[in-house]
Amino acid sequence: MQYTVEIDQELCTGCHRCIDVCPVGAIGGPAGMAADINYDKCCFCGQCVQICSAYQEYKSETSAPRETKMKDRGLLASVREPLFAAHNMGHAQKVWEAINNPNVVTMVQCAPAVRVGLAEDFGVASGELVAGKMITALRKLGFDRVYDTNFTADLTIMEEGSELIKRIQENGVLPMFTSCCPAWVKYVEQEHFELHENLSTCKSPQQMAGALFKTYGAQVDKLEPKKIVSVSVMPCTAKKFEASRPEMNASGSQDVDLVLTTRELANLIKHAGIDFKSLKPSQPDSVLGTYTGAGHIFGVTGGVMEAALRTGYELITGNPLDDINILDVRHSQGVKRATLQVGDLAVKTVVVAGLENAAPIIDEIKNGTADFHFVEVMACPQGCISGGGQPKVLLETERKQVYASRMASMYKHDEELPLRKSHDNPEITKVYKDFLGKPLGHKSHELLHTHYCRRG
Ligand code: SF4
Ligand code: SF4
Repeated sequence: MQYTVEIDQELCTGCHRCIDVCPVGAIGGPAGMAADINYDKCCFCGQCVQICSAYQEYKSETSAPRETKMKDRGLLASVREPLFAAHNMGHAQKVWEAINNPNVVTMVQCAPAVRVGLAEDFGVASGELVAGKMITALRKLGFDRVYDTNFTADLTIMEEGSELIKRIQENGVLPMFTSCCPAWVKYVEQEHFELHENLSTCKSPQQMAGALFKTYGAQVDKLEPKKIVSVSVMPCTAKKFEASRPEMNASGSQDVDLVLTTRELANLIKHAGIDFKSLKPSQPDSVLGTYTGAGHIFGVTGGVMEAALRTGYELITGNPLDDINILDVRHSQGVKRATLQVGDLAVKTVVVAGLENAAPIIDEIKNGTADFHFVEVMACPQGCISGGGQPKVLLETERKQVYASRMASMYKHDEELPLRKSHDNPEITKVYKDFLGKPLGHKSHELLHTHYCRRG
């Protein structure tokens, strides 16, 4: 297992803000002394990385030279930022080597929340949507194929929606839990393994994309899968852990080789001397690049639920939804319950924002009082827009406004897109027709679904 988050004992001042923010009580340490992470409990959400304000300034000296620390953290030598005590392990140096290696083909995907956070590291107002500039920047960096995690968010809905319908119709294990947040998945595996069958067997969009790049993508481009280096850009530090899980090798090798955070992508763009603000927007490559509004809102809490309900309603009833904006599942501040009438069935849903809020829901399931069908849990307080790999917002007073701007931008983009339901994505239809067959079919099962293991 890769430890993707660490606290530098030399830089930690013992303020213990990280202890307060950790949703699973994984950090401890004597008062005023350096904090330490218990990896049996840590789920790598990176909230401690977001909040940490103990740092070594550029050029100041500590007993370990800055160059050594930067190398250990996987940072590019050009990074001039302060080094914070709580930090994540970086892959930017390895990605730089891959995009400059003529013997490999690099394929990249970016998660929805990256495009509403990235510009903040270039001095642009929070929440600014920079999807098109981000794609141009990735091409300028030298990636051979620029695809999109939003595409496989749509694919996740096709698989996960079908799985939920099957479980309801065939008396399967309910409630079903979403499985796209790796921090939540790890938490279930280590603290509540008796509920692991409640987790959807769907891989996260990141992992579905990785498996498709090295199979379908390889076939389209007539490439040997072993020549492909698959890279993802995520707002999330737990995604680095997820990519390293041994189960995630449906293509025959690790499906996602390297994971950059939003901050690391900003560093790479600066390292290459690209003037991000002046870039002209462009479109991702086809296939595996087109997305709908439903795929895009995966980046906010309640988004996976809303996307699944948009598709589930229409697939079950055969009728269009009266109002595609399902406000009852949006803006959760902890636990939000809602019921949607789908044909004859009242589908009961729960959206949990922030891992610390999952406990009462888990208690209800364990004591037999739960009457709901589908539960979305995102470990970070507002979903991935507030993930551990996003640009840091150090001031508590600013954080609220920044997260609100990023969230508003997510919903605005959803409303602007011509297609807003995953099953309307024409490239999803094409990939099923040409390669996957049907949702929950043999090939989908092989590439897009997974299993879980007991931890701790
Ligand atoms: S990564 Fe998350 S779970 Fe792990 S110590 Fe930091 S805040 Fe706690
Ligand atoms: S909510 Fe999103 S960013 Fe946070 S741990 Fe889960 S997947 Fe990662």
